[in-house]
Amino acid sequence: MAGAITEPTLAAPSAPVIDAALGRIRAIVGDRGWTTDPGEIAPHVIDQRDRYHGAAAMLVKPADTAQVAAVVGVCADQGIAIVPQGGNTSVCGGSVPGTGGDEIVLNLSRMNRVRDIDPANYTLCAEAGCILADLQAAAAEADRLFPLSLAAEGSCEIGGNLSTNAGGINVLRYGMARDLVLGLEVVLPDGTVWDGLRALRKDNTGYDLKQLFIGAEGTLGVITAAVLKLFPIPRVVTTALVAVAGLDEALTLLSCARSASGDQVSAFELLPRIALDFVCAHVPGTRDPLAKPHDHYVLIELSSGDPGPALAETMERLLGQAVEDGLVLDGVIAANTGQSRDLWKLRDSCSEAQKHEGGSIKHDVSVAVSRVPEFIRRATALVEAAIPGARPVPFGHVGDGNIHFNVSQPPGADKAEFLDQWDALNRIVHDLVHEMGGSFSAEHGVGQLKRDDLARYRPAIELALMRRIKTALDPRGIMNPGKVV
Ligand SMILES: Cc1cc2nc3c(=O)[nH]c(=O)nc-3n(C[C@H](O)[C@H](O)[C@H](O)COP(=O)(O)OP(=O)(O)OC[C@H]3O[C@@H](n4cnc5c(N)ncnc54)[C@H](O)[C@@H]3O)c2cc1C
Repeated sequence: MAGAITEPTLAAPSAPVIDAALGRIRAIVGDRGWTTDPGEIAPHVIDQRDRYHGAAAMLVKPADTAQVAAVVGVCADQGIAIVPQGGNTSVCGGSVPGTGGDEIVLNLSRMNRVRDIDPANYTLCAEAGCILADLQAAAAEADRLFPLSLAAEGSCEIGGNLSTNAGGINVLRYGMARDLVLGLEVVLPDGTVWDGLRALRKDNTGYDLKQLFIGAEGTLGVITAAVLKLFPIPRVVTTALVAVAGLDEALTLLSCARSASGDQVSAFELLPRIALDFVCAHVPGTRDPLAKPHDHYVLIELSSGDPGPALAETMERLLGQAVEDGLVLDGVIAANTGQSRDLWKLRDSCSEAQKHEGGSIKHDVSVAVSRVPEFIRRATALVEAAIPGARPVPFGHVGDGNIHFNVSQPPGADKAEFLDQWDALNRIVHDLVHEMGGSFSAEHGVGQLKRDDLARYRPAIELALMRRIKTALDPRGIMNPGKVV
């Protein structure tokens, strides 16, 4: 089966064909819905890490699903490629077009209505262009929680979150984006609309089609709206930063925390000493909260719907026992929300702080939670052997087995020379991840950046199945060409 299906490739349409198609699109979306002004297009064709610089024939901003369907219909007729775009915060070049200038960017930002909130059903129906932070606020207004949370939440949009199957800081408790969806509305690559906006928790009626589009990074259709799951708002959240005796002890602590709290752990994030050093050196308003330096820290958050003192007592009991058992060497429990924010700032500033230490080569990888310590030890040894003096900074969502294994350049090294080793270092780390049964992209997706990795590490049969699905849904290959498969 492997190799039996080839990915559809799109022949570039001629200039008159593009012009005619753009004329039809202008008529569909009206004056507010399109631009060809290079200044207005510019921020939409560059990725946020400034790695990919593309070009677009037009930036199109439809106002509703009917407009999206009509625009996609025109593109399907004329063979014009479409790059769906939300907040353009993709970190793997998924949301920007190629350099040919013959694709359109279909930006969903104007479609930002919350269509419905049903507190009794614990659901919210939102259009694709809703900014994630706005959805969290809309849910909170209805006394509900929408738990998806990531550092880009002030600018990323739910359509982009679902298309990348975003993760973030609450996966341990609530799952990835795909776990938070009950229904979808999608404009298919031929311009037809699939209304799958069902708000059902039980629905065993054939294939779960919505899951095809979640994580597809815009290659199978345009998500225009979604029914999202809501949860009770936690009434008490308690946060602690602890120095652990080692990586294995961090893992044991995670298991203890899950059982001691009845699985009320909402975050369990690893910080190595070097990350804390970078943050305290470069991010104003931060400081090491403990008296002495240690090799590894864990940020633990427990949350509960019970407003009483039980959760705080659980945290104290858990950490007291962990100190007695030699898992934890020192730690601090936030006494109020201000202190909790300060502890989270240490974790949230890791990427930002690393920028001040010169070039950094990034890996967003996952292994089974039980193998995280082994992975970090082996990857660190491999990286240090490959680039003497390079500084691994493995931090992140250890509770999900997801490590941001970012490597800072040796102090004083030439940044460009270091970054030239990006692909070679990725190969070393991703080979290890593969050997350990892990994933080379835990939560950031594939986009343009990791397309070759997908071909290298996924079994041939999986690639062939992906290509069959792509060909079946998008036979002309107009949806986000050059990404994923
Ligand atoms: C500071 C920062 C922190 C981040 N932290 C995390 C994190 O903790 N966890 C995590 O998982 N990710 C993280 N990311 C990356 C993450 O993928 C995005 O932030 C987010 O999920 C993408 O949303 P967006 O609206 O910006 O989508 P875009 O970047 O615009 O698009 C992303 C992909 O989805 C497609 N797409 C967008 N909208 C649609 C649509 N309506 N229909 C079909 N396809 C569409 C695009 O074509 C592209 O392939 C982070 C990024 C930044 C910049």
